Order: sequence, then structure tokens, then C-alpha cells
Amino acid sequence: MRGSKPIYSINKMRKKIVAGNWKMNLDVGEAQELFKAIIEIEPAKGVQVTIFPPAVYLDRFLTGFPSVASVGAQNAYFETSGAFTGEIAMQQLRSLGVHAVLVGHSERRMLFGEDHVMLKKKTDAALKNGLQPFFCCGEPLEVREANEQEAYVRKQLDESLFHLAAEEFEKTVIAYEPVWAIGTGVTATSQQAEEMHAAIRSWVSDVYGETIADKTTIIYGGSCNPSNAAALFACPNVDGGLIGGASLNSADFATLVAAETWTI
Ligand code: PEP
Repeated sequence: MRGSKPIYSINKMRKKIVAGNWKMNLDVGEAQELFKAIIEIEPAKGVQVTIFPPAVYLDRFLTGFPSVASVGAQNAYFETSGAFTGEIAMQQLRSLGVHAVLVGHSERRMLFGEDHVMLKKKTDAALKNGLQPFFCCGEPLEVREANEQEAYVRKQLDESLFHLAAEEFEKTVIAYEPVWAIGTGVTATSQQAEEMHAAIRSWVSDVYGETIADKTTIIYGGSCNPSNAAALFACPNVDGGLIGGASLNSADFATLVAAETWTI
């Protein structure tokens, strides 16, 4: 709850991130209005803001963004160049000054058929081109109902992320986004989020060791909003949020990054 006291001690070492995924929303005027409002926001100390606007607006948002913030792309292709009509290369994004890219968002997996082989290639291509992958993972409702979420998410990470060398893995951010919570208004409880984030961190530790696991930023996504963010962000293994709907409202987004929501 907004303004509630922390119930856990927060790891101060890890980077905290609140990221806004605008998806395929807003015309150019609306996007500029939102952008103008966001650059006025003062984030809590130590909290990085990243926005993922539609690709057509990336260029105009890359100047004038405060140093605590970064701009990412919602998608990019793994090939470097060539006959891939309609696609954007990681290298092109980097040449524009884009910092980050979403990989494996459930909408890309489900609506555009992106499988683990493609997501592995996209992760590799992002890193090769100096972009920070925000690797999204999370289980659909039927998997949660069968209580098989840990095996499901572990497989997603094994297939497309855990092949990375440690020095590459260290540059990635993991976004745990249960599919049943995305855009539904149903949020994972703090306990559900914390259990999954702790499990993910322990798998990172198994593969890359405790020091890297301790430093890995793992953010939560799925109907996160001003009424539930403080409780989610107070969980010891939750290092912020990937925000869809609430990132389109500047007042809501401001609350999510503000000191009152954070207890660092
Ligand atoms: C998302 O799309 O990554 C997301 C978390 O959306 P929402 O916040 O709207 O559930």
C-alpha cells in the first residue's frame, strides 16, 4: 500500500528500475505530452526510470532525457541488416542511442509467435550491440493453477538466457511477468511475487554464483499500480517494476517512481 512501512529490509546494492512499457498506444502529440510530464518527475534516490515508447517515437525522446533515465525499444530483430521488411535491427537502435530492449514479452511470445530459439538470438543480438536486454518471463494462468510456475519459468530462462557468459548475463535485467496479471487488473500478491523472484535469484545463483545473483535486477510486471506498488517493491527480491497501463498516466507513473513508494 502506498505510504506503508517496509516489511522487509531492501537490498541497497542492486539497481532499482521502474520501466514504462507504452505498448502500441498514444499518437505523437499524446506521447510528447506524456514524455514531457515524465522528464519532470523526480525519482526516488537510486531508482532508474526506463521508458519503452513505440519505436516511431524513439528518436525524438533520445535527447533531453535526464541521466537517471534511459530509453528502450519494445522489440527488435536479431539479424544485423538485410531483407527483413518491417523489422528494426538492434544495431540500428544502438546507432540512435537507445539503451535497452524488451525481449520475450508475453505479447510477443503469444501474438507474434516468438519462441525460445528466437528469444535466445534476440538476447545475444542485443548484448552484441550494446543494448541492455530486459528479459521477460512468466507463466500463463493454467500453469499457475497447476502450481507449475517455477518449472515453467526456469525453462524459459534456461532456454533463452542462461546460456550467456557471466559477463554478458550481468548486463541483463529480468522482468518476471505472470501472464495472468498482465493488463488484467489482477496483480500477483506480494507473497507470490516474492516467491518467484526469490526462486529466479536462486537459479541465477546456481548458474552464475551468489555475487552475480545478488546484483541481478529482477523487476515485477503485471497490473502494478499506485495502490499495490509499495508493497511489491518492499519485497526483498523485487527490484522495481515493468509497468504497462499505469505508465500511460503520468500521475500514476510519478507515484511509482517517487520516494513515497520506495523505502530504499
Ligand atoms: C506489461 O505489459 O509489461 C505490463 C506489465 O502491463 P500491465 O502493467 O498493464 O499489466
